[in-house]
Amino acid sequence: MSEEVKSLNFIEHIIEEDLKNGFAKNDLKFRFPPEPNGYLHIGHASSICLNFGLGLDYDAPVNLRFDDTNPTKEEQEFVDAIKKDVAWLGYKWAEECYASDYFQQLYDWAVQLIKDGKAYVDSQDSTAIASQKGTPTQAGTNSPYRNRTIEENLELFAKMKNGEFESGAHVLRAKIDMAAKNMLMRDPVMYRILHKAHHRTNNTWCIYPMYDWTHGESDYLEQVSHSFCTLEFAMHRELYDWFLNQVYDENKVRPKQREFARRNLSHTVVSKRKLLRLVEEKVVTAWDDPRMPTISGMRRRGYTAAAIRNFADTIGIAKRENLIDVSLLEFCVREDLNKVAPRVMTVLDPVKVVITNYPEGQEELLDAENNPEDENVTYRKVPFSKELYIEREDFREEANRKFFRLKLGGEVRLKNAYIIKAETVVKDDEGNILEIHCTYDPLSKSGSGTPESTRKVKGTLHWVSIKHALKTEVRVYDRLFMVAEPDADKEKDFLEFVNPDSLQVVTGYAEPSLKEANIGETFQFQRLGYFCVDKETSANNIIFNKTVGLRDSWAKLDDK
Ligand code: ATP
Ligand code: MG
Repeated sequence: MSEEVKSLNFIEHIIEEDLKNGFAKNDLKFRFPPEPNGYLHIGHASSICLNFGLGLDYDAPVNLRFDDTNPTKEEQEFVDAIKKDVAWLGYKWAEECYASDYFQQLYDWAVQLIKDGKAYVDSQDSTAIASQKGTPTQAGTNSPYRNRTIEENLELFAKMKNGEFESGAHVLRAKIDMAAKNMLMRDPVMYRILHKAHHRTNNTWCIYPMYDWTHGESDYLEQVSHSFCTLEFAMHRELYDWFLNQVYDENKVRPKQREFARRNLSHTVVSKRKLLRLVEEKVVTAWDDPRMPTISGMRRRGYTAAAIRNFADTIGIAKRENLIDVSLLEFCVREDLNKVAPRVMTVLDPVKVVITNYPEGQEELLDAENNPEDENVTYRKVPFSKELYIEREDFREEANRKFFRLKLGGEVRLKNAYIIKAETVVKDDEGNILEIHCTYDPLSKSGSGTPESTRKVKGTLHWVSIKHALKTEVRVYDRLFMVAEPDADKEKDFLEFVNPDSLQVVTGYAEPSLKEANIGETFQFQRLGYFCVDKETSANNIIFNKTVGLRDSWAKLDDK
């Protein structure tokens, strides 16, 4: 028996290499570090699956670290949503950490840097500082404040911390090299003054550390061994290492930053800032609008955690950015729901069928299979009666030989029920079909064991008994953007490409078993797709979100 060998991605190769070179397996530790300035999206899911997946593979702890250093954009609401999403994806973090818990330690280290002559207070505004940065080919210019004495720097920095200056009056900068090739090394800002309450530290601090100063030191404090981030931070690695060098103790694990490519999905945007605009400008109803590529939106739409994990696994980790087609995500969703979603019948665009030879007033409860994919198949009851709905597009008065649905003089099987034959139609004055009059074959009942019950007819239709039908609201979604890459054209605002028809609300006529459906449950509406009960559902209004269509195997029978 050959053992399945999992091929390693380049990130796993990095870890394997470190282990080979003597890094202790017990010291492996990872983290997922979201900024709580919005809801997580499908791009974050890649990072979550990468980090927590490594945790599982190497039996190593993974921290959930909130990178909460910018109180102007961060909120508790986002912290709560992020925790919920990571847990829903099926992962357990070892520790819940906050960069803000390290503010005092970071401050103390910054004071040490000043004492070592490696940091100084700059009293210029951001425009002046930017104008001295130079260009990639030209060295920058030293700030006139670069040579302040240590005493003066210590005093100013203490005053900054004590709230004696206005926002923006001074910054603390690392004193590295204004001629460095890597422009990020040209005396980067470590602290800024910001008089703004923080969602966790309230008004304790009015100076806030910048990302570069915070991230590596947080990794170090948590003893994260491998800190994976997206490619735009590749240039920051040198600074990450420089800051680490200032505090690193050889007896401790030294975190290592490595980069992988951001994941982009077609027909949507994956950036919290852009998603926020969709919410604020009311293009969508909320962060968890089912059209959003947020984890909460996908959950509400009926995507499963298993499908999202499987998608992340399938696309893997890359070194270069590329665009993943959203249809691959939909494929993963469909594949998972096919296994788990119970089958039901709902008609979305009804036309009435009257079975003329079915006894007036008679009703029967027919057995319907819940899910043919289940190992142990179970059944539910579906009521049948003289008057039914079928989909309007499932009937034609005349059609060619390849139309296997219902046509005058033709036969179809009603799923779980009988074979019917269309005899005549009743129309209104404008020629619209009001009723299709059919006859049924009483011996053809599915599962009844008669020869007629297994008689083959080419088409099978879903249907619902009018008298028993449950009226539901069905929200049918299309892609939120009309083009694959709405934010590719930097000259244009991505909102210009919003699809105006991304939401269509229709009435669905459902079999009565759906009365019992719970919020969040997903069903396969046979021949139509997967649908999930929305959270806005109330006792007298069941609302469904269309999760994804079927790759309709029945469609190939038809020649539209
Ligand atoms: P956004 O621009 O959407 O705010 P971000 O990178 O600023 O994204 P963070 O909250 O800082 O968001 O990200 C947390 C982690 O998720 C980081 O390690 C980041 O690199 C990763 N991440 C964010 N977006 C993606 C993406 N599209 N693909 C893969 N990883 C991502
Ligand atoms: Mg960000």
